[in-house]
Amino acid sequence: MSESKNNESPVKPASFKKINAVKGMNDVLPGESAKWEWLESVVRKLMASYAYRNIRTPIVEPTALFVRGLGEVTDIVEKEMYSFEDRLNGEALTLRPESTAGVVRAVVEHNMLYEGGKRLYYMGPMFRHERPQRGRYRQFHQIGAEVLGFQGPEIDAEVILLAHDLWKAIGLQNVRLELNSLGQPPERLAHRAALIAHFEKHQDVLDEDAKRRLYTNPLRILDTKNPAMKDVVEAAPKLLDFLGEVSLAHLNSVKQILDANGVSYTLNPRLVRGMDYYNLTVFEFITDQLGSQGTVCGGGRYDYLIEQVGGKPAPAVGWALGVERVLALLEQQGAALPDAIPHAYAIVPDAPSMPLVLQYLRQLRALGVNVQMHAGSGEGVGSMKSQFKKADSSGAQFALIFGADELAQNTVSIKSLRDGGGAQRTESLDRLESWANSLQLTS
Ligand code: ATP
Ligand code: MG
Repeated sequence: MSESKNNESPVKPASFKKINAVKGMNDVLPGESAKWEWLESVVRKLMASYAYRNIRTPIVEPTALFVRGLGEVTDIVEKEMYSFEDRLNGEALTLRPESTAGVVRAVVEHNMLYEGGKRLYYMGPMFRHERPQRGRYRQFHQIGAEVLGFQGPEIDAEVILLAHDLWKAIGLQNVRLELNSLGQPPERLAHRAALIAHFEKHQDVLDEDAKRRLYTNPLRILDTKNPAMKDVVEAAPKLLDFLGEVSLAHLNSVKQILDANGVSYTLNPRLVRGMDYYNLTVFEFITDQLGSQGTVCGGGRYDYLIEQVGGKPAPAVGWALGVERVLALLEQQGAALPDAIPHAYAIVPDAPSMPLVLQYLRQLRALGVNVQMHAGSGEGVGSMKSQFKKADSSGAQFALIFGADELAQNTVSIKSLRDGGGAQRTESLDRLESWANSLQLTS
């Protein structure tokens, strides 16, 4: 065929080099995106069932939002942010590394807590300059839930139940829930002093990060991924032992609700999370099946962030999950995930029939049938045989044959392309609605 000849550009200079995606940033191609769309649709339904509403904030935010919100001495702010200066006005901007800070900014900016608490969710890309590896990318995607304006432990439990129900809805197995409490600021202050004293005694095993953080943010040392520091972290004083009655009661109430709802968890006194904004309840859903990228979802309470971003003090709690990790885990567990949207393929042997056939295709689509139109190569529509080949390789469930004979009688022939085919049937083009549903190609 002359297809390749037609596509050749007469002006293409020999020096055009191929341009590839930025390292650690991935294309999601159609076979894969069907899985993403499926996951997103399950999430939307589940969020609606809990009466959470969607929020969409910008991908670019003022750098100060993250420095102030996440904490200056955190991995993200110290080394992972994509920050740049606006060329026109010099503003310091950052591609969002997470979405909680942006959601809080929006809630404050639009005075959204004025008439009471809000339950929100989001989905979208995040950016962190990390070393790319399986389950760790520079552009990755999160789905998150944030509830603002409620203080009680039942809302901590609600967000955890929401995540737990999501695993059930998508068939995800073998994720365990780890739970901890980071207490309140005075409790953390007391713990901090004990922590510094402990690490001062073990300076020799501290790495560069830890030494630097010893007096600025010693809690962060507990979040280390350095195996050489495992023992010294293990032996460090536990925040749980510094909690007062009120903080302990909050934790116990969360545990009670989880118990009553059959959600199992383990208490992990080492769990601190990567951002400074958390207090009281923190949790992670973890799997052993993704190597060191085993945290699929993490979250907790952040009662002081709203005030830090300039709003009137209000409590909040939320979580975020990593879409790539959740899908990789499902795949590893052999879950049957969709890789295409079902459709029919319209075979049109005679080019002059196209204007009429396209009208029928649009009517079918309006009735909810997904149909792909056959498109020619520029030198006609091709033989029946080649059209059938294209129908098959398109993954279509059915071929709709709009031949001259069929059209003369106002009919279309329908042939199944899967499960060994079977008999061809003929349907009326005057009564599309009487058979459209039977194809079951509605997405
Ligand atoms: P990790 O300890 O693996 O670095 P984190 O504590 O930095 O994770 P969070 O900031 O809590 O992660 O983000 C919530 C979730 O987003 C994580 O549990 C993970 O599933 C996902 N995630 C975080 N960073 C990445 C990344 N670079 N690539 C892919 N997914 C990520
Ligand atoms: Mg991280």
